[in-house]
Amino acid sequence: MFALLFGIAMALVGKPGERLKGFFDDFNDVIMKLVVILMNLAPYGVFALMAKLFTETGLGMIAGLAKYFFLVLVVLIIHGLVVHPFLLSALARVKPGIFLKKMRDAQLFGFSTASSNATMPITLETVTKRLGVKNSVGSFTVPLGATINMDGTSIMQGVATVFIAQVYGLDLSVGDYLMVILTATLASVGTAGVPGVGLIMLAMVLQQVGLPVEGIGLIIGVDRLLDMTRTAVNVTGDAMVSCVVAKSEGDFDEDVYYDREAGKKLEDL
Ligand code: ASP
Repeated sequence: MFALLFGIAMALVGKPGERLKGFFDDFNDVIMKLVVILMNLAPYGVFALMAKLFTETGLGMIAGLAKYFFLVLVVLIIHGLVVHPFLLSALARVKPGIFLKKMRDAQLFGFSTASSNATMPITLETVTKRLGVKNSVGSFTVPLGATINMDGTSIMQGVATVFIAQVYGLDLSVGDYLMVILTATLASVGTAGVPGVGLIMLAMVLQQVGLPVEGIGLIIGVDRLLDMTRTAVNVTGDAMVSCVVAKSEGDFDEDVYYDREAGKKLEDL
């Protein structure tokens, strides 16, 4: 709210607002450069963190890391292949197999770019041209979903928090678990649809339950493949919800969804 009002006031004051805008643009460039420097340093920092941890806890940590990796992967796959189709058939009452088949291109693009935002044009095209969602609904739900709907990301953040707590030997109470669920959901909403941001937002979840933020260093090494997989899940969620919303609004064309031809359409009439 503050940012919005500040922006409006900046636009209203004229020249001083423009000067301030120039300052923010420059500030943004400096911060972006800082991020690039930190990204280049990150591998060395992660190496040092992992080395310290392995010397303290032994190589058994690798087995723990492998368990974390496969658990996130399996849950993501179940979410994408079971939960999404189930919700689609329960709420939109259409056959989910067709949805999964048509989503393949968007999922592959999401997987290879690890960015919901970069995948947005393909998700939008799939949703409106192949799944039968009217443009008036899809052009709202898909960009909104690519920005705030990150179910795959929240799955990773939940599992990662529990994993980091276990590595540091900290017990989480039931209240902590509820806090993890709440903050992982909020953090995933705040996650930008670009590669790796889910891991940065994990810091918020860790802080909330009193875990050390350095814990992120433990999982950063195996995150790329998980990032790719959770992005594919994120874009599937965006498309699934678009279909459900379109159906509830009466803006869903089942002929397009089921690829019924024009002739068949007339017969139906
Ligand atoms: N890469 C994810 C996406 O774009 C966000 C994340 O979890 O890092 O959807």
